[in-house]
Amino acid sequence: VTTVVTGIGRLVTHTARGELPGAWLVMDRGHVVEVGTGSAPAADRRIDVAGRCVVPGFVDSHTHLVFAGDRAAEFAARMAGAPYAAGGINTTIAATRAASNAELRTLAAARREEARRAGITTIEVKSGYGATVVDEARLVGLAAELTPDATFLGAHVVPAGVDADAYVELVCTDMLAAAAPLARWIDAFCEVGAFDADQCRAVLTAGRDAGLGMRLHANQLGPGPGVQLAVELGCASADHCTYLADDDVEALAAGPTVATFLPATDFSTRQPYPDARRVIDAGATVALATNCNPGSSYTTSMSFVIALAVRDLHMTAEEALRAATLGGGRSLQRDDVGWLGPGSRADLVVIDAPGYEHLVYRPGVPLIHDVIIGGAVDGHDTP
Ligand SMILES: [Zn+2]
Repeated sequence: VTTVVTGIGRLVTHTARGELPGAWLVMDRGHVVEVGTGSAPAADRRIDVAGRCVVPGFVDSHTHLVFAGDRAAEFAARMAGAPYAAGGINTTIAATRAASNAELRTLAAARREEARRAGITTIEVKSGYGATVVDEARLVGLAAELTPDATFLGAHVVPAGVDADAYVELVCTDMLAAAAPLARWIDAFCEVGAFDADQCRAVLTAGRDAGLGMRLHANQLGPGPGVQLAVELGCASADHCTYLADDDVEALAAGPTVATFLPATDFSTRQPYPDARRVIDAGATVALATNCNPGSSYTTSMSFVIALAVRDLHMTAEEALRAATLGGGRSLQRDDVGWLGPGSRADLVVIDAPGYEHLVYRPGVPLIHDVIIGGAVDGHDTP
């Protein structure tokens, strides 16, 4: 069954064809088979988007969707002047451990649906609020129900009352053995108050040896060794990158590791924003992600992230859209998403505006009109 999307006022392809005015796009069996301008070819089904702008679906390469509990009070205290520290994660760990699989599945599925409505067509989901062998295994399993890009984040925080070195040893052995068969990625939180460089190196290399791809939370709350470690180990992505030294920027520019910015986090923690301009101008590949989590960034809105990236990270709207789509795809080492053309997945977002710049120009306005994932409109209709 072929479907043609017609009446596209502006089609952003992220291919050599660039942006096409007055365009159409044909989908078949979950993939794009043809794009063009002028009169549209015949197809079994026709969707007219009436002059709206169509962009590749958003690729959210960093989320923590599987959790229970709520930290609105902590957020309010922070807005009233309390600092953000990594230890707040223990609050969510307690609530998550106490929740059943059925409860966690319902909560995570609702958040995934919220993200879909926000235009996120590809998503990465981490564990990390279990911090025991049994709990991390079940959280990775629940993440894997939502996405092929499930990430084992046993090294999220040292649980209260546990020796750090003993915990790292557990993460690298029994916890990894239980989680690895269900995960595609391994991640760690390299930060004062979480794990140091040697501990993160031990965790990531153990994951790599178990067949997982590597990613790292790096340089979020202050300068540190995380970005250098991520580049040295060949991580797919170094995430946050809020505090970067010259050496960090040079390392990101020289290697394949994607610099992923999570500006909704800096917004929600009242941290400074990263100097994305310096990273982009140095030639590094950049991505934008929501970091949806209950402590430091409880949003699924990639439109909001794009607006922050333009206003506060001084990216152009074009750069921000590219980072939220193609950049996320690079961060997840997926070459079938983040662009639209023959062979790409038929993942697209119809924006209720003549151009995607309106996502920035009209902040907070729900402009995501339709979301097509694998050729299925709004998740209901599987051609
Ligand atoms: Zn995170």
